Amino acid sequence: MTDTSMPKTYDPKEHEGRIYAIWEKSGAFHAEPNPNRRPFTIMIPPPNVTGILHMGHVLNNSLQDVLIRVRRMQGYEALWQPGTDHAGIATQNVMEKELRKEGKTRHDLGREKFVERVWAWKEEKGSYILEQLRRLGASCDWERARFTMEPALSEAVTHVFVSLYEKGLVYRGTYIVNWCPRCNTVISDEEVNNVETAGHIWHIRYPLEDGSGFVTVATTRPETLLGDTAVAIHPDGPKTRHLKGKTAILPFLNRRLPIIEDAYVDPEFGAGALKVTPAHDPNDFEIGKRHGLEEITIFTEDAKVNENGGEFQGLDRFEARKKIVERLEAMGLLEKVEEHRMAIGRCQRCDTVIEPRISTQWFVNMKPLAEPALDGYRSGAVTFVPERWGKVYTNWMENIRDWPISRQLWWGHRIPVYYCDGCGKEIAAREAPAACPGCHAKDLRQDPDVLDTWFSSWLWPFTTLGWPEDTPELRYFYPTQWLATSPDIIFFWVARMIMAGIEFTGKVPFPTVYLHGTVRDTKGRRMSKSLGNSPDPIDLIDTYGADALRFSMVALTPLGQDVQFDAKKTELGRNFANKIWNAARFLLMNFEDYDPSADAAPSDVADRWILSRLDQVTSEVSRGIDEDRFGETAWLLYDFMWKEVCDWYLELAKIRLHGTDGAAKRRAQSTALEVFETTLALLHPYLPFVTEAIWDYLPAERGLLIRAEWPKAKGRVDQQAEAEIAVLRTAISCIRNIRADMNVPPGSEVRVMVKSHGEPASALARSEAYVRALAKVGTLSVGADVAKPPRSASAVAEGMEIYIPLEGLVDLEVERQRLEKKRAELEKGLAAVNAKLGNQDFVARAPADVVTSETERREQLATGLAAVERNLASLREGQ
Ligand SMILES: [Zn+2]
Ligand SMILES: [Zn+2]
Repeated sequence: MTDTSMPKTYDPKEHEGRIYAIWEKSGAFHAEPNPNRRPFTIMIPPPNVTGILHMGHVLNNSLQDVLIRVRRMQGYEALWQPGTDHAGIATQNVMEKELRKEGKTRHDLGREKFVERVWAWKEEKGSYILEQLRRLGASCDWERARFTMEPALSEAVTHVFVSLYEKGLVYRGTYIVNWCPRCNTVISDEEVNNVETAGHIWHIRYPLEDGSGFVTVATTRPETLLGDTAVAIHPDGPKTRHLKGKTAILPFLNRRLPIIEDAYVDPEFGAGALKVTPAHDPNDFEIGKRHGLEEITIFTEDAKVNENGGEFQGLDRFEARKKIVERLEAMGLLEKVEEHRMAIGRCQRCDTVIEPRISTQWFVNMKPLAEPALDGYRSGAVTFVPERWGKVYTNWMENIRDWPISRQLWWGHRIPVYYCDGCGKEIAAREAPAACPGCHAKDLRQDPDVLDTWFSSWLWPFTTLGWPEDTPELRYFYPTQWLATSPDIIFFWVARMIMAGIEFTGKVPFPTVYLHGTVRDTKGRRMSKSLGNSPDPIDLIDTYGADALRFSMVALTPLGQDVQFDAKKTELGRNFANKIWNAARFLLMNFEDYDPSADAAPSDVADRWILSRLDQVTSEVSRGIDEDRFGETAWLLYDFMWKEVCDWYLELAKIRLHGTDGAAKRRAQSTALEVFETTLALLHPYLPFVTEAIWDYLPAERGLLIRAEWPKAKGRVDQQAEAEIAVLRTAISCIRNIRADMNVPPGSEVRVMVKSHGEPASALARSEAYVRALAKVGTLSVGADVAKPPRSASAVAEGMEIYIPLEGLVDLEVERQRLEKKRAELEKGLAAVNAKLGNQDFVARAPADVVTSETERREQLATGLAAVERNLASLREGQ
């Protein structure tokens, strides 16, 4: 009945696709509202339809899959809700690139045809990243996959827009926004990357109208002077007191610039006067509003000087800068130029320098939404892991700015606002109105813009479950239980989801936000396409297996910190998967005569010890997972499986498994089987494929591991057995070390004498058979009065002095020569390291990790040398 036909090696390719299909067909991924179980819901951060699996996705989704599998095994109705995001700008860019290859622009197609093509592209290629997630083993409920542009979710977006509009929280306003001249659209603050750049400060003289001299202004963007409408000074600025009430004249355009007083001006910066360009600088915009200044836009949408720029009209903004500086210099109006480092805003999508621009856009008034979301955090309804992100969240929420939500794109949710050109009415409506409610005109014009992509993703936790309909799914699975994401999108997404959840459902959408770190290369650089420093996760899965990738990634990521990764690190998980496979195979080779009905209570110390450890590991892993300590639990299981089960327990059990005592053998079989069943179940969430594959080989009908019950500790913690095995392990390790140090041939049995009394002595006496088998010991004598025999190697460990007489065991003269040679080598090595570390120059200049590793090497060499000296001394004794 027992299947011992496990192949010699674990080949992930032979199992992963097959097992994934079995899981999916079994319905294990699918969740339904079920009043008999508690729900556990995780919303996937929806990847972009244009997305390709990268290492960040691997980390993010491995963590989610670990937790959802654990909760499923714990008996929750576990829903991992998948789906994709339509990704407005990104997707439109992909499509425009494709059109460019055909020599076309989106305008050649027109809006309708363009959007049709994007849909066709999405149907064909938009599920690619979800297919890749399957390769990773993600146990999402694919039957419930959603897309932010699908009809139901689009209707919800319209509903939300109109609701906010009706409450007065959505408004159309003229405001200074971040404008990308390449993408030709407004983008939000969060979509701007601020890049530290070397630049200049130009000090420019504006003549005073009364001919009494100049006012000097300092700027990093001289071209914007074309849009200046004032010069501002601090009301109490000592350097600028004489300028109060005067007027300056703008070079080139001869515009009159009143000198105004505003406390925003830094009286210490430059000459203490600030040029004010309300239409092209956010701070100047505010000053302009305070003083009622004219806002003069000087650039076209693609950042060329427009008709307001006089002689510079038609120039690109950076050419204009050059020309203007040259001309100022020629006119004697350039006082000086200084080097200056500053942050330049660039478009996150295309890297173009952002141009602040006044534009009419739709905004959400965020303050009223932010306040309850802040309260949600302060009251503990939502917590961040690690906690430090709570401060970041609070700070952003307290200083929140209105959210520009319109985008000048075609791909996205079109703004549901209709304009009547006849009577000027503006109508926000869930359904396109047939006629103007004011003048009954039929030719209404819909707003051409679409909504920011995040305007649909901030609704993701409830629209995916059917909101605004009151569906059974929404009632059962919402609010969700956990969210895992990267800190990059804490403002874009997390904070806004909390606001939307409270505003539209009255509930915080998740109690816990787990923010994992960023995946970096081994030099600490963020992995990116442009640096080409990221391995392709699918290549890693092909080479090492999905389990290997998942396990390595989770184990190597410290809680809430960044992880440094490269392809080679995947070997950690690959070697572990192989180790488990080989151990299971060894075990099952000893199961031919296994009879489950003959189980007996374990009485052997090895069995009692491993079951004690198993119970502890089971409790610790469960607790660790509840506390989001995924990396730590992965190592806990790794060490238990490798260093306790494989290195010790199986070695100890082998004696009975290979022995002739049928009852003892059955007890070893049944303990080993329980250890494997439990450990495989605990490991399953991390290494789902290899554990499922092995599970299937274990004796007895057992169903799928993905559906197995999560292990529970059974109260078998046994301090006495643990203490006894600890003594045993110490003694065996000491004897093995001596054997290796003294070059004892592996086939020779040694005579061992242990000076010990009390517990260690009786433990050794009881487990003599184990010591003899595992350390190849012929005779073992233990006693309080054992004396060190002449010419014997020795080791001292807790409560024991261990002696191995060497005479007759090794050729003492050959050994002496070997050890003396070794001593010379070690002394030479030690001298070299000491010289290095004694050199102040080296210590001062070498990188810290090099110094640390040299220091460690010195310690190793010194320890090795001491051991060799000791062994040489034992050889000389009695001579
Ligand atoms: Zn751009
Ligand atoms: Zn009308």
